[in-house]
Amino acid sequence: MESAEIRRRWLSFFEERGHTVVPSASLIADDPTLLLVPAGMVPFKPYFLGEVKPPFARATSVQKCVRTPDIEEVGKTTRHGTFFQMCGNFSFGDYFKEGAIKYAWELLTTPQDKGGYGLDPERLWITVYKDDDEAERIWHEVVGVPKERIQRLGMKDNYWSMGVPGPCGPCSEINYDRGPEFGVEGGPAVNDERYVEIWNLVFMQYERGEGIGKDNFEILGDLPSKNIDTGLGLERLAMILQGVQNMYEIDTSMAVIDKATELTGVRYGDAHDSDVSLRVVTDHMRTATMLIGDGVTPGNEGRGYVLRRIMRRAIRNMRLLGATGPVVKDLIDVVIGMMGQQYPELVTDRERIEKVALAEENAFLKTLKAGTNILDTAVTETKQSGGSVLSGDKAFLLHDTWGFPIDLTLEMAAEQGLSVDEEGFRRLMKEQRERAKADAQAKKTGHADMGAYREIADAAGATDFTGYTETESETT
Ligand code: ATP
Ligand code: MG
Ligand code: MG
Ligand code: MG
Repeated sequence: MESAEIRRRWLSFFEERGHTVVPSASLIADDPTLLLVPAGMVPFKPYFLGEVKPPFARATSVQKCVRTPDIEEVGKTTRHGTFFQMCGNFSFGDYFKEGAIKYAWELLTTPQDKGGYGLDPERLWITVYKDDDEAERIWHEVVGVPKERIQRLGMKDNYWSMGVPGPCGPCSEINYDRGPEFGVEGGPAVNDERYVEIWNLVFMQYERGEGIGKDNFEILGDLPSKNIDTGLGLERLAMILQGVQNMYEIDTSMAVIDKATELTGVRYGDAHDSDVSLRVVTDHMRTATMLIGDGVTPGNEGRGYVLRRIMRRAIRNMRLLGATGPVVKDLIDVVIGMMGQQYPELVTDRERIEKVALAEENAFLKTLKAGTNILDTAVTETKQSGGSVLSGDKAFLLHDTWGFPIDLTLEMAAEQGLSVDEEGFRRLMKEQRERAKADAQAKKTGHADMGAYREIADAAGATDFTGYTETESETT
């Protein structure tokens, strides 16, 4: 089943059951606490928090999502993309646990010729929060899932919360058993690659009080109205329904792998490392295209830095694979070819998207070679002096002068067996930011010490890298 069909069936299933279809919001979150949208519920947050009265009691969407914290997983696990689409159904004080569970089961297991996804019920494994007897009862007694395929997990895995005070509650996840070729048996509690998580049902039923982190806080009591927030990964379901090994090989990704092999001459399937690189390129070019499409431009802070990191990582992986010339235009063309059906604005905006990407590629290629030489020399020196940690100074220099995002330095150092003094790097970044701030202040008040200013300008040298902010977007 094609991705477009998965999407169509999702929306029509929930529309037929009284849900208002809400188009995907932009990846640029309309929310000061988030850089980018990491989940389908984000556009509905004010309804869940009770800040705004929802105009409908039920909604459904297929939301574009970016999760930068998953960047390290990309290409290594079979199921993590930095960009993916989250299919969701939402209830604002309307149906609750039993309704959500029954809908999910029905849609997943109804045969394909009857409008569902036709998954084999015997391959579905359920996790519930350890104290959520009610959810377990519904899965077992109402839906008929045998107890052996229902597992209880703790707060870290199966509990959700947002803000203090704010809604919280247990969740229940549906996982698909891909079979023994994906590893040992034992359910999702044991093996998350074989039993791949496809759908998370969140039951917002309590009010959260003070406490630390995700799994250690007080629960104040029941919410006045109980809500449902669910998310299913479209690409993960596509991977299962299309019978491919991982989410980079589905219909809306595979052609990018093919293009990258064509541009580099490396064959997919030849070696583990080059396969990972090809998948990283594929994922990152999809993400970059979607981000630029939504108006992000590469920069040194915030969203712009997320985009820069992702693009530079993709470009470097293409070099590792053997590409020598520019690559992003060709790759983006393929991404737009596949995603344009669902996002026609990519097609109309093609010229602008490619122009932005090309400028970033040119800027990076100009400094990549020199930066790589600096890094190699630093690695050799560190090793010769018996060290195993690349200094924060070097990482800072690479960032500041040669445009190397820190995780590029981390990755390149790791390839040669070194770690990096990240703390030292961040200290230098902070100092630089403070100097820039003081300088701006001095300019404003008219007491600039020109000597100090000169020094900063010299130190900055040829760079266009002057700032750094935390770029991890929160996940829900
Ligand atoms: P995982 O445990 O596999 O990292 P998650 O628990 O972080 O997933 P949720 O936050 O529950 O994921 O998101 C809801 C659904 O969105 C998941 O069940 C999955 O299908 C999908 N999803 C989450 N992260 C990704 C990702 N990085 N790439 C593709 N799909 C994802
Ligand atoms: Mg995750
Ligand atoms: Mg999970
Ligand atoms: Mg989950």
